[in-house]
Amino acid sequence: MLPPEDQALLERRARLLGPAYRLFYEEPFHPVRGEGVWLYDAAGKPWLDAYNNVVCVGHARPEVVEAIARQASTLNTHTRYLHEGVLDYAERLLATLPPELGHATFTCTGSEANDLAMRVARAHTGGTGLIVTHWAYHGVTSAIAEASPSLGQHIVLGANVRTVPAPAPLPGQSAEDCGRVFAEGVRAAVADLKAHGIKAAALMVDTVFSSDGIFTEPAGFLREAVEAIHEAGGVFIADEVQPGFARTGECFWGFQRHGIVPDMVTMGKPMGNGHPVAGMAVRPEVMAAFGRQSRYFNTFGGNPVSMAAAAAVLDVIQGQELQRNALEVGAYLRAGLVSLADKHALVGEVRGAGLFIGLELVTDRVLRTPATAEAAQVVNGLRRNGVLLSATGETAHVLKIRPPLVFTREHADLLVSRVDFVLGSLF
Ligand code: PMP
Repeated sequence: MLPPEDQALLERRARLLGPAYRLFYEEPFHPVRGEGVWLYDAAGKPWLDAYNNVVCVGHARPEVVEAIARQASTLNTHTRYLHEGVLDYAERLLATLPPELGHATFTCTGSEANDLAMRVARAHTGGTGLIVTHWAYHGVTSAIAEASPSLGQHIVLGANVRTVPAPAPLPGQSAEDCGRVFAEGVRAAVADLKAHGIKAAALMVDTVFSSDGIFTEPAGFLREAVEAIHEAGGVFIADEVQPGFARTGECFWGFQRHGIVPDMVTMGKPMGNGHPVAGMAVRPEVMAAFGRQSRYFNTFGGNPVSMAAAAAVLDVIQGQELQRNALEVGAYLRAGLVSLADKHALVGEVRGAGLFIGLELVTDRVLRTPATAEAAQVVNGLRRNGVLLSATGETAHVLKIRPPLVFTREHADLLVSRVDFVLGSLF
């Protein structure tokens, strides 16, 4: 039962915010404070945040808070005046990326970054077709929402949009074989666009396929699809809004695990640790046509405060070696989750890279039958037991575990023991 004050908040939300907003959990959660990997309710009770990839360096991280406050109390303008902040950050950001990606453009949201990437792709290729995965999510602008099938069965995809099955490797399948199946889907989508008089402009994928169900292994399976879109005259856009900024452990960016160099990379969520800053990196030759045809100005994108926040995030990720932490703690956490399979028949595959982990729940391990209802029960059971996470995939049967990068082995032990407890007590 919700406390009466939260019941009142629910009613206010419905009245003020209208019907399109959704809350997590059967019993909505009302945090009032965050610190590190913890969220606290009004009574001071802690919840382990195993879900929020935005606060990559931890809730209320002092270095980021101070950087924002310092810059906000000095100057905040926009990118139509000269300022070192945007250049210093662009330099540091581009240094984390392959040298082919030579320009950076800043936005406030991942949606805007993807929307801009599409405009750039169209200007460069002369095409309009966009290929995405079957249950992708890329954002909220009208062009990008029309390429985000996971928004639900009522979403009408754009006439220029085609979907392909995400690479979901069979057990033991090689990167080449899995990649070939994915690339064949891309080639079929290109052909279908062509049959409708549409030239392919881009293949856009989230490089951990977060909405499709989290597919990260075997690394390398993206290679052939990149070749396929290039053969069709289109570009490859790596949507790094979820996997970017050291989360996958082995590399700073999700696409790097696959040994490819995208034409554009979009990013957001963790970039400002909660401050709304996002952006796009692009090959100069791909950006050139858009630059000739159009000017780009985003009132808030790349402003000095946003750049200060983003720079402070990079300082912490790099200074505290959070990429290495993601690799080590992620491997430790996955091993802990795998060990639960001995005790709980529902536990299927454990997937992921670094601290981006999917725990598949199945009612039949051989047939891999999605345990959709059970996954919802586990997510809500964990919420009642002090742990926050969610479920993903078209059938929402994959627990999505994506904690702040400051997660430790002790936090991983706690998470595994609570999952163990909830699975044991519910089933
Ligand atoms: N791409 C991906 C893969 C995302 O997960 C999201 C956000 N969930 C977006 C783009 C859109 O980002 P934003 O909400 O900042 O517009």
